[in-house]
Amino acid sequence: MIVGVLVEISNQNVDKVFDYKVPKELEDKIKIGIRVEVPFSKRTLEGFVLNIKNETDIDTKEVISVIDEEQVLTSELLELGKKLKEETLSTLISCYQVMLPKALKAKHNTNISKKYDTYYILNNKVDIKLSKSAEEIINLFKEKDKVKKEDIVKISRSSLNTLVKNNILKEVKHQHYRLKYNNDNISKKELTTDQLKVVEEVRKTNGYEIFLLHGVTGSGKTEVYMELIEDELKKGKTSIVLVPEISLTPQMVERFEKRFGDKIAALHSALSDGEKYDEYRRIIEGKAKIVIGARSAIFAPLKNIGIIIIDEEHSDTYKQENEPRYNAKDVAKIRGQMNNCKVLMGSATPSLESYARAQKGVYKLLTLQNRANGKSLPQITIVDMNEEMKYSKGHFSKKLIDEINDKLEKKEQVILLLNRRGYSSFITCKNCGYTFKCPNCDITLTYHKSSRTLRCHYCGYGTKVYEECPSCHEHSINDLGVGTEKVEEEIKKIFENARVLRMDTDTTSRKGMHEKMITSFKNHEYDILLGTQIVAKGLDFENVTLVGVINADTSLNIPDFRSSENTFSLLSQVSGRCGRSSKEGNVVLQTFNKDHYAIRYVKKHDYIGFYKEEMKVRQTLKYPPYYYICYLKVSGKDMNESGIEAQKIKKVLDKYLKNSTILGPSTMALFKINNIYRYSIIIKYKYENDLNDVLKRLQDHYKSNQRVRLDIDFNPVHL
Ligand code: ADP
Ligand code: ZN
Repeated sequence: MIVGVLVEISNQNVDKVFDYKVPKELEDKIKIGIRVEVPFSKRTLEGFVLNIKNETDIDTKEVISVIDEEQVLTSELLELGKKLKEETLSTLISCYQVMLPKALKAKHNTNISKKYDTYYILNNKVDIKLSKSAEEIINLFKEKDKVKKEDIVKISRSSLNTLVKNNILKEVKHQHYRLKYNNDNISKKELTTDQLKVVEEVRKTNGYEIFLLHGVTGSGKTEVYMELIEDELKKGKTSIVLVPEISLTPQMVERFEKRFGDKIAALHSALSDGEKYDEYRRIIEGKAKIVIGARSAIFAPLKNIGIIIIDEEHSDTYKQENEPRYNAKDVAKIRGQMNNCKVLMGSATPSLESYARAQKGVYKLLTLQNRANGKSLPQITIVDMNEEMKYSKGHFSKKLIDEINDKLEKKEQVILLLNRRGYSSFITCKNCGYTFKCPNCDITLTYHKSSRTLRCHYCGYGTKVYEECPSCHEHSINDLGVGTEKVEEEIKKIFENARVLRMDTDTTSRKGMHEKMITSFKNHEYDILLGTQIVAKGLDFENVTLVGVINADTSLNIPDFRSSENTFSLLSQVSGRCGRSSKEGNVVLQTFNKDHYAIRYVKKHDYIGFYKEEMKVRQTLKYPPYYYICYLKVSGKDMNESGIEAQKIKKVLDKYLKNSTILGPSTMALFKINNIYRYSIIIKYKYENDLNDVLKRLQDHYKSNQRVRLDIDFNPVHL
């Protein structure tokens, strides 16, 4: 017997299947999709068995040992990995490794193993004279067939030993899983007519179909998801639910557990390696039917999938930024086809790409225009900070202070967002809010501190930093950026008696802290929740009636063609955190750019208006969804050499890709990291049949180059 093994090294040079002979005594244990140990050059490596055959033409070495009893990669995942490799031009091994928890990856051999509980069963009739405690032990078996060791030891350890020695009791082991889910209080809500209509629309279809659910914040999308999942459960099918970052959305898991109990498996980064391993096994053994998790949960080894749901589909966290550079939404479509099942993406602010596809009929569009509680969306007030700055130097406008005081008096709660996206990567005029843009690309220029220059990292345009603002002529150009801590101090000064909870990456980094904060805010131990982007995501507190955005603009200035879209989406999402229950809510949005269309449409809760306007910009400037983007990174230790290679690549692309626009090479915003110099090239295209072939040839050329490295990223989410 010969097996084809894909070894653990992720390198384009080694990315192929090597044959190994299987020693007679291991033949019975060999299966496709398990891990084995094999000799490789002078080392011992782990790898996955991808095929089994009878003979091979080459002289091969022998498999050393078999690691798994059961498949770790199902046949669907094996197939999926191959497709992923083709789509992302990654190594095959990286595509498989990304699917698995640490304990089951090739190589990362940890001590993680199954956990067992010890039980005893009655093995023989009692044929000896029993002591009092032994009798007590035997009595336990009147009600149960098997009794936990702990319960017996409580009575008497020595009597237990005696009973075992006399063959009256026998030990049995049952494996258990590290995580427990609660099956009590399973409950569900009656759907509203709007929700039911959406559910019926999905029910009508059979087989593979993609839906886009555009539902305003608080419209009850989650209830719709759960109803559809229950449909599938009744049919004996399984489901995947993707959420942007599950450790940030404990409320979501709670709701699923309340509805489905231990049929769920929640995969997230806060789990220990042992817990992840157990969850993976619960899924592969068919015990968990519904998997909830962040990006990589799309690879859950479920069989017979009925529906794949992607919540907050606009979120950039669905894209992995290192190899394999996949987007979970694309993987969802592949698995949707493989399982012939439904894929449903939901958001209050769909990505432009998805909404455009829904407009074209590629996706089926579903809408929920009203909140589930029947209330209207919160009233949004825009405060022009240019005006405010004339009177006060702080971060709080008079309007926002008044509103906060009002809520504090009513014993209601407030969420404050400090928008720190794009923090200090650009500079702006403190007086008028002017930012510097590239004349060629209409993209905010990035500030390079060391050279005091501003650069466009799309086309390479550069200019010196002026002290004087070209717009208002004040000498007030400065890097922008405030920290949450500073704002927290200010709040404590203005609102002396308010209890403030600060939530940002610093305060939530310890395990479980985020969840604890959410609970204490829910229990009204605090009046004001101040935080960065994380407070915009999926929170549902009934007593929150005011959302204040301290600085709506910063994210508008990020040098990325999606900055307007991301800002619109962030502001809409955070606005949606209030007035979700019986009390009405309102929003105060402070900005230096009150006339920017993203801000104007947020105020009107007008996604479609924003969509139309932004689409015009994208068409004019040839950005997605009108064009696709492929991003190349060329990097190396030698600045000149890397630059020269980048130029060569650009020439090749110009020569072979006749239907594309090639931008660059340009130095990346972070040009030098760890002494590696980085250049970027952007390919914009609509149709380019040869693209993958040309890129593969370039990849082949550079794979043995030790000095210059080429990375390829299709449909990047950040530029
Ligand atoms: P979304 O995911 O669209 O933001 P949610 O599913 O979180 O909305 O629902 C918003 C709020 O409305 C939640 O508190 C939820 O419990 C409640 N809700 C949703 N649907 C119903 C319903 N059919 N009946 C009663 N309450 C509902
Ligand atoms: Zn430019």
